[in-house]
Amino acid sequence: MDFTDQIVVVTGASRGIGRAIAQRFAEAGAVVACVATTEQSAGQTALLLDQAGFRAIPYACDVGHAEQVEAMMANIQDQLGTPHVLVNNAGIARDALLVRMKDEDWDRVLEVNLKGAYLCIKAVTRAMMKARYGRIVNVSSVVGLHGASGQANYAAAKAGLIGLTKAVAKELGSRGVTCNAIAPGFIETDMTHDLPEDFRKYVETTAPAGRLGTANDVAPAVLFLASREAGYITGQTLTIDGGLFL
Ligand code: NAD
Repeated sequence: MDFTDQIVVVTGASRGIGRAIAQRFAEAGAVVACVATTEQSAGQTALLLDQAGFRAIPYACDVGHAEQVEAMMANIQDQLGTPHVLVNNAGIARDALLVRMKDEDWDRVLEVNLKGAYLCIKAVTRAMMKARYGRIVNVSSVVGLHGASGQANYAAAKAGLIGLTKAVAKELGSRGVTCNAIAPGFIETDMTHDLPEDFRKYVETTAPAGRLGTANDVAPAVLFLASREAGYITGQTLTIDGGLFL
């Protein structure tokens, strides 16, 4: 898949799945706007890509805050041009059983995972509509499809992303803009670092793939959904879980 000179915005690009996505786009010729919460974290991936001879620019932004998202997208448009691709990957988990869940943890998880995607989409929509071209990919989760004990906030946010994906697909489809989601299973990153050993064993023995996933298992699917060739696919959610939920 060729993304030569396309402007690609990846949120949560400082590590894990976001970094792998940013790297794949850069390798495919894109100019990648690497978004993360701080200058330093956004800079880590951008520097790595820059040193490898690719084009990547860091942008610091907390995607849960409207004014920061608007400023970040305005800067990207001024400095790079209208984005062809937006990948809403930024996400956090703050797990607790419902009875112990703090309201602020409910709010923050919804703010980053769901409102963040809404704000980023809103901030690029006019420009993509004007260009009559755009590809939006939202990073949901199998937890958004199936639920998970101890993750009511995260499950609600990730399920919300799937609804958002379908609504945006319907609203922008006639303007050449597609919107799809991916639902990764359990992927080896900082987020899953503390998974209990017995749960890891469960995944390894239950998933037909026989292992947890890696960020590099996820990134190519994002590139496909973001490609020009995937223009007739919209409003869909692609599960990437090694068959765990079959
Ligand atoms: P990670 O914790 O390694 O990376 C998360 C990224 O999001 C980091 O770059 C972080 O800086 C960024 N981020 C966090 N809050 C932000 C904010 N307010 N504004 C901007 N950026 C912010 O996690 P990961 O495993 O790479 O997860 C990436 C995405 O994939 C998340 O949306 C996550 O929910 C989703 N996901 C992960 C798994 C998994 O098993 N790891 C499974 C399904 C879905």
